Amino acid sequence: HDAAPAHKRILLKLSGEALMGDDAFGINRATIVRMVEEVAEVVHLGVEVAVVIGGGNIFRGVAGGAVGMDRATADYMGMLATVMNSLALADAMHKQGLTARVMSAIAIDQVVEPYVRPKALQYLEEGKVVVFAAGTGNPFFTTDTAAALRGAEVGAELVLKATKVDGVYSADPKKDPSATRYSSLSFDEAISQNLGIMDATAFALCRDQKLPIKVFSIFKPGALKRVVLGKDEGTLVHV
Ligand code: UDP
Repeated sequence: HDAAPAHKRILLKLSGEALMGDDAFGINRATIVRMVEEVAEVVHLGVEVAVVIGGGNIFRGVAGGAVGMDRATADYMGMLATVMNSLALADAMHKQGLTARVMSAIAIDQVVEPYVRPKALQYLEEGKVVVFAAGTGNPFFTTDTAAALRGAEVGAELVLKATKVDGVYSADPKKDPSATRYSSLSFDEAISQNLGIMDATAFALCRDQKLPIKVFSIFKPGALKRVVLGKDEGTLVHV
């Protein structure tokens, strides 16, 4: 038997780039299925799961493809990209036997329901996975900030920031074999050591709201479940 989960409600932040797999852009089917399998494991433990997904695999407003574009316009395109990813994620969840609802910060009535906080809370209580699309709905923000914001709004106990590396290390583990993983760090330590865990706005919001962040890898099999069970996995950033 599994131990009881350490957290009742979590907010999982997935980057858009995680969906690419080894492809150059877009959504890799096998990759999204693997991610959803990890999510399903924790849903089956009875944990309430809210998800924010990025859009960097399709469009990133702040860089690259948007050169020469008006920043706000490019950012709206980035937010629309997150809606596509959210739809793909919810679809993959349904195929995996989960019930998922996409709620968008930008009204696109025929495609997704709008974000309404009490409704999101209701879905979570019903055990449905809620995927928050379109970031915060505002340009000049990121989906990391949307994760912090929605996490605080729905009363998540933990923001789980999925990265390529399985935590925060004392140095780049790819370059320095002596690099060690921090099991936990305070917000102040992360700031003073200039560890870019989330963007500054997201980080400040989590710190103000005393909302801990766990950095972990969504592609390390079982890691998400280990985090939820309160095991020593990834890096916890705490107040
Ligand atoms: N974006 C935005 N406001 C938000 C969230 C996202 O303007 O509240 C735009 C921004 O242009 C960003 C893009 O959407 O570059 C994709 O989001 P993000 O870069 O956070 O995705 P990720 O890096 O997680 O794939």
